[in-house]
Amino acid sequence: MRQYLIPENGNFYKANLHVHTTVSDGRMTPEEVKKIYKDNGYSVLAITDHQIMLPHPELDDEDFITITSVEVAKNMGDYNFLPSTHFNVYAKDQKAEVFPFFDPEGFWRAIKHTMDYRTETMINYEAKHFGYGPEELNRVIAECNKQGFLVCFNHPKGSLQNYRDYGGLKGLWGMECYNTGAAQEGYEDDMDPIDDLLTEGQRKVFPIASDDAHGEGSCCGGWVMIKAEALEYSKIMEALEVGDFYASTGIEIKELYIDNGILHIETDGVDEIVLHTPIRYRKTINSKDGEPITVWDCDITDLIADCRKKYDTLAKDTYFRLDLRTKDGKRAHTRAFFLDQIKD
Ligand SMILES: [Zn+2]
Ligand SMILES: [Zn+2]
Repeated sequence: MRQYLIPENGNFYKANLHVHTTVSDGRMTPEEVKKIYKDNGYSVLAITDHQIMLPHPELDDEDFITITSVEVAKNMGDYNFLPSTHFNVYAKDQKAEVFPFFDPEGFWRAIKHTMDYRTETMINYEAKHFGYGPEELNRVIAECNKQGFLVCFNHPKGSLQNYRDYGGLKGLWGMECYNTGAAQEGYEDDMDPIDDLLTEGQRKVFPIASDDAHGEGSCCGGWVMIKAEALEYSKIMEALEVGDFYASTGIEIKELYIDNGILHIETDGVDEIVLHTPIRYRKTINSKDGEPITVWDCDITDLIADCRKKYDTLAKDTYFRLDLRTKDGKRAHTRAFFLDQIKD
């Protein structure tokens, strides 16, 4: 039986889920940001200004929607010397009236200026005061989830985060595996922290490639391609919530399904695809004679059968995901698919 791992029906919508504007410390106005992304083929944009959630329905049109969102942070102090945790939170309801907030010290310092941008919908925000550390961060995540937000852990490398900071976190929806701004500063994120959380039994933690652009120079480097029925706020958020998307810095995944244990992927041409699992099982295909790979049928019947047969919990704990690369350094990542979600 064929099971689509990226939905068969619907359209792909290109989305940047992380950008800053003059509302906080970005150098572009919301209107300028929209123009840049729309001109580059994007349909969805989350304007994630620091510590202030400002919906931007005025930027929406037939071919473009904005996601109500904010980047919240907890800093231990000096950003250059001490760790800090940054979350992007995305509202399932475009008109969300409450915005999650932690770290009273970190409230956007230019808030007096940004107050001018506040609309009626912003007035009822609730300030939540939290400390730092896994337990406190879990309270933040739980609170955000309760209030209808998807929570993404941002640029772990860029903010000096390691397993001590993100290990044990529960309820994350996503984690950045690529952040253009951080990569430009030499802190290129990867999939390792996501695997750490997946192997702890966190089933989402979807890979997010984004820009975190503060100026034009870091726009359009990393994005997600969302497959949804239509370009409507609720449909886009539903697709995001269930993981109907992949992360990319320049590679297109056209189709992904599994049919009787054969994993089928179609791309616009890559030099390497790696099927990654948390156990000692890995499959790789490389381009030959400069001929890019556009289709790969990868037989994983043995993986599925062995895991189901050998250990009771292995089908529940074992997942596979795909990493794609081109020789010139472009990447794409699918989310993880757990074996007990694969139908016969
Ligand atoms: Zn950040
Ligand atoms: Zn940011």
